[in-house]
Amino acid sequence: MSADLTRLTAAELSERLATREVSAVEATTAHLERITAVDGPVHAFLHVSADQALATAADVDARRSAGAPVHPLAGVPIAVKDVVVTRGLPTTAGSAILRDWVPPYDATLVQKIKSAGLPILGKTNMDEFAMGSSTEHSAYGNTHNPWDLDRIPGGSGGGSAAAVAAYEAPLAIGTDTGGSIRQPAAVTGTVGVKPTYGSVSRYGLIALASSLDQAGPVTRTVLDAALLHQLIAGHDPFDSTSLPDEVPDYVAAARAGASGDLRGVRVGVIRELQGDGYQPGVLARFTESLDLLREAGAEIVEVSCPHFQYALAAYYLILPAEASSNLAKFDGMRFGLRVEPDHGPATAERVMAATRGAGFGDEVKRRIILGTYALSAGYYDAYYGSAQKVRTLIQRDFAAAFAQADVLVSPTAPTTAFRLGEKLDDPLAMYLNDVATIPANLAGVPGMSLPSGLSDDGLPVGFQVLAPAREDARLYRVGGALEALLEQSWEGPLLSRAPELEVAR
Ligand code: GLN
Repeated sequence: MSADLTRLTAAELSERLATREVSAVEATTAHLERITAVDGPVHAFLHVSADQALATAADVDARRSAGAPVHPLAGVPIAVKDVVVTRGLPTTAGSAILRDWVPPYDATLVQKIKSAGLPILGKTNMDEFAMGSSTEHSAYGNTHNPWDLDRIPGGSGGGSAAAVAAYEAPLAIGTDTGGSIRQPAAVTGTVGVKPTYGSVSRYGLIALASSLDQAGPVTRTVLDAALLHQLIAGHDPFDSTSLPDEVPDYVAAARAGASGDLRGVRVGVIRELQGDGYQPGVLARFTESLDLLREAGAEIVEVSCPHFQYALAAYYLILPAEASSNLAKFDGMRFGLRVEPDHGPATAERVMAATRGAGFGDEVKRRIILGTYALSAGYYDAYYGSAQKVRTLIQRDFAAAFAQADVLVSPTAPTTAFRLGEKLDDPLAMYLNDVATIPANLAGVPGMSLPSGLSDDGLPVGFQVLAPAREDARLYRVGGALEALLEQSWEGPLLSRAPELEVAR
């Protein structure tokens, strides 16, 4: 019974909860037991909040028994990336500088999750301050890919993706600044959505790069992503970049897509996001998915985005610049770690230097140095200013491409999951994982990654769908259709082909 509950999608679980065939306490217990059984070797979680989750579940069960109206996802457990602040639960952002920090407030999206009655199972592992593509930059150890424990689960949100892929949680929250929802989803065979910038509140996300960050869902199906996205989206007066729009019906779009009819939809294949550097198995699955979209009635066109070749370079100036400013608040005075200098007077400046020296990892220091340099007088125009101009050119590329197509598509990542340690000493090789995901963040447009099959190495490949800003519903329509067609051809979900994890007793 327990084992079966962890295999259900959030939509299926929600139906069984509604008919009271399953209680929220049973569903939560099953997932907590699964975490105990498999999270040793996977290490998706930094903190498990069993008591709080079970208390939420018991409360939902009581409300349901009393006949009170509850949210459709009430009682469906969820995992939250550790960069999102949670009142009373440790929040470290994967950094030693925030070890044991317990926030005094909830992020807006956490408040929404709590008011809807989703039990929060715990906080998931990530690259320190969301800087990375493999979760190897966490101060708390590696997360392992459930498909092959010697491989990376993607990053920075490897913990959320691994938790969902390992059936430890049906739903998870990720954040995506350059691809950290979509790339982990791609390499773990899960679904990840980066919403339109500003459509999900950033209030209570520990900022990496404020003009790029966006939180979104990580799930096993397109419909589940729509259900979670629907819950967390919406205007928030606490976030000055929050869009005032009504939240569109993502769930209806996902359900409509599942019929597999894409007549009248124009799909633009981005010429610059394929070819050299992409693994043959990744390209083969991409082409097969295009064939399925064509069979579903979509019109496939090729589009060119000539400035995408500069996206990575622009991103690695804009991101470090914003990060260097955002991370200035970790000064040993306000949050978390405080380290006194070994010798000499403990002046404010020397305490800050000792704290930041001890509390930040190498990748964070690298980016603070890069960002501070890019913003310094005399270099600002040459580096930061040029990067912002490139950003505008990329936005124009998107505008031109969306004049020819309703959605744009590409592989999500150039390769499948690489081995732990393989790229750790080569920051540029690590950065290149995000060539296909970064343009969306620079332009603020929404993107989805969904599984499109296994490469020759037997590892999952992601298919990326991009839509114009505020048109996230298109991702669900097209993603829902492609998922339905692919699952028909596979005779089941891709994740059912993942090797069974050894269960601890
Ligand atoms: N891997 C990218 C980086 O290292 C993306 C990070 C993210 O989206 N948080 O910056």
